[in-house]
Amino acid sequence: MNSNVNADWVTRSLASVWHRCTQMQHHETLPLMAISHGKGAWLFDYEGNRYLDAVSSWWVNLFGHANPRINAALTDQLEKLEHAMLAGFTHAPVVELSERLAAKTNHALGHCFFASDGASAVEIALKMSFHAWRNVGQSHKQEFVCLTGSYHGETVGALGVTDVPLFTEAYGGMYRRAHGVASPAAVGEAEALIAMRTLLARRAGQIAAVIVEPLVQCAGGMAMYEASYLTQLRDLCDEFSVHLIADEIAVGCGRTGSFFACEQAAIWPDFMCLSKGISGGYLPLSLVMTTDQIYQAFYHPDVSRAFLHSRSYTGNPLACRAALVTLDIFDQDDVLSKNCERAKKLGEALARVAGHSNVRNARQTGMICAFDVTPELAEGFSRRFFAEALKLGVLLRPIGATVYWMPPFIVSDEEITLLSDVTLAVLNKVAGVSELSQE
Ligand SMILES: *Cc1c(COP(=O)(O)O)cnc(C)c1O
Repeated sequence: MNSNVNADWVTRSLASVWHRCTQMQHHETLPLMAISHGKGAWLFDYEGNRYLDAVSSWWVNLFGHANPRINAALTDQLEKLEHAMLAGFTHAPVVELSERLAAKTNHALGHCFFASDGASAVEIALKMSFHAWRNVGQSHKQEFVCLTGSYHGETVGALGVTDVPLFTEAYGGMYRRAHGVASPAAVGEAEALIAMRTLLARRAGQIAAVIVEPLVQCAGGMAMYEASYLTQLRDLCDEFSVHLIADEIAVGCGRTGSFFACEQAAIWPDFMCLSKGISGGYLPLSLVMTTDQIYQAFYHPDVSRAFLHSRSYTGNPLACRAALVTLDIFDQDDVLSKNCERAKKLGEALARVAGHSNVRNARQTGMICAFDVTPELAEGFSRRFFAEALKLGVLLRPIGATVYWMPPFIVSDEEITLLSDVTLAVLNKVAGVSELSQE
């Protein structure tokens, strides 16, 4: 527990680790935090300081760090089987997880294909859609549609359906861009549906699938829209014989109020991608769930009609076991009902912040709260806000000029109060309001 240990890890990290989603030169001024351990909603550094993990370690953690139930299940699994290849072999954790997830969709999506991270689940859904059309003699259906402001991951195929220029621009020559259609979060539901209908009416013969992030476009700035858009999008996809891919990597597993965000629209997609929270934030695990109809399109004596996609760690037993205990916690603790109460508290805290003179568009979907700051603060805002909030013991990392809270579901009333107190204090600091004049 001393500052030398902390500084030592930071120095060594900067020398050898190339950190994700970071201009490394910014660490000349931006702090890099060395974390020694975590407990509940908190992360601890080597100096004994603690930070409230108000972004769930980038949207993965559901039930806190070092969760005793998840730890116990993983310890038990370690003694049994750490990994076995999922071709020609199977094992209890992957079977049970597939069954339980299928049951959560009333078996509408009864087949689970496993991978390790979110982007690879997106790749799988895109490839499966493309290949399924080919297998049923419609190989002209090769194009994809995404929404403006979409984010589906950063592998080359996923970049083709991602619309965040900061992440895609440098690689424009590497991939084929999908059709971009106006998002309901940007132009409203009616206009967005007209735009989608117009494209599908013109090109559905060439289009394999539409991919969306149900209810909240998270990386695109926590842009939120109503479930009724998804209901009508499902109808449009049926009308024009186009698959619907729901990327629930960020919004699934209870984040928006229901276990799957699609439930709020009373629809099932043809493909659903899950990752992030499904393992409780413990281990890399992702999966694509799909229908019997898609599955049957590949079921054939000819090997070339099979879905041969392969990931070394597919269906890893440890990761599946973490997911199984995550589902147990949902059942045993009645998490979705409790989250209604948590979401109400978060909404009250958000209302306190929404009155600040620099805050615009305060919004909430379930356990996700967000607001934008006025344009005069935007320049360098995200990094300044991050650094100042850390000084006050809260991990918040705005997306551009959008501040959001996406805490683990175990966040307490006191921690929610701290979250709004610190958000207000940092807003005042960054906006140059004297701290004495606050409240
Ligand atoms: C995070 C995310 C991904 C990518 O997941 P990775 O595990 O980072 O590859 C894809 N889609 C959405 C909606 C996400 O939020």
